[in-house]
Amino acid sequence: GRHRANAIIQPDFRFEDLGIGGLDAEFSNIFRRAFASRIFPPELVDKLGIQHVKGILLFGPPGTGKTLMARQIGKMLNAVEPLIVSGPEILNKFVGQSEENVRKLFEPAEREYRERGDSSQLHIIIFDELDAICKQRGARSDSTGVGDSVVNQLLAKMDGVDQLNNILIIGMTNRKELIDDALLRPGRLEVQIEVGLPDEPGRLQIIKIHTAKIRDNGILAADVDLSELATLTKNFSGAEIAGLVKSASSFAFNRHIRVGGTAELAQDIADMTLQREDFISALDEVRPAFGVAAEEFD
Ligand code: ATP
Repeated sequence: GRHRANAIIQPDFRFEDLGIGGLDAEFSNIFRRAFASRIFPPELVDKLGIQHVKGILLFGPPGTGKTLMARQIGKMLNAVEPLIVSGPEILNKFVGQSEENVRKLFEPAEREYRERGDSSQLHIIIFDELDAICKQRGARSDSTGVGDSVVNQLLAKMDGVDQLNNILIIGMTNRKELIDDALLRPGRLEVQIEVGLPDEPGRLQIIKIHTAKIRDNGILAADVDLSELATLTKNFSGAEIAGLVKSASSFAFNRHIRVGGTAELAQDIADMTLQREDFISALDEVRPAFGVAAEEFD
């Protein structure tokens, strides 16, 4: 129709296809608070007298799927491929032009909004390691003041988004306490969602996702019990679980290589499988960065 909303749910969308494990509650939360209103025609949203959420903050330990979730929600809603910038990159790579770089990030969305108004596609800008540009704010004597001006530029840009309807800023950090209060006020990164380490059912989902291909191709040995792996990966992040599967694969590959004077492939590579012993070896190699690993295993 004439008043098209700036997000639509892709018709062939299925939640399972997103490849996100153990974050159902977080996902629904983010969706409801920051995206649901965008699917409705703008004039209906106007009737409620509310404005779309312009910014969200995802916080929690590294490798838990914050970036993954942001990208996938964008895909699901037919948003423009998100711009991902990292705080340190803004500060270091472009010394002296940090503010200019923040300003430029908003240009594609601004241009599209001028042309298409409320029916512009949704533009998502992701600030990874947002804390990096905040740390220097305030008058520390050794501060360069660069962080200050970048945060101020970002604030100015975010406040300007009032006139636009097609931008969503997603800030990410492992350390919420370092984020400038000014950035967290209503109208800015107002929806704050914690993405923590997965619990055991969550880890099982993530393990299933990261072994899906291996299982589909019949390469997972029958002695591998995914529920047992979920128990043994206590305190693992999603990224660490992905690393565990990779490490297990390397042990499986290695079993088929004879290292003598040279390294050569054994004859039986066609029946290579990932076995329980590979995962046990991998559990020795890949350790969780936070908290302690599960109790000893045999
Ligand atoms: P950082 O704070 O370091 O930026 P992050 O929380 O944004 O981390 P991602 O970059 O989303 O983490 O995760 C890295 C990779 O780990 C993903 O691409 C994915 O392969 C895997 N991963 C992490 N969390 C999950 C999850 N919940 N489900 C499935 N895979 C996951």
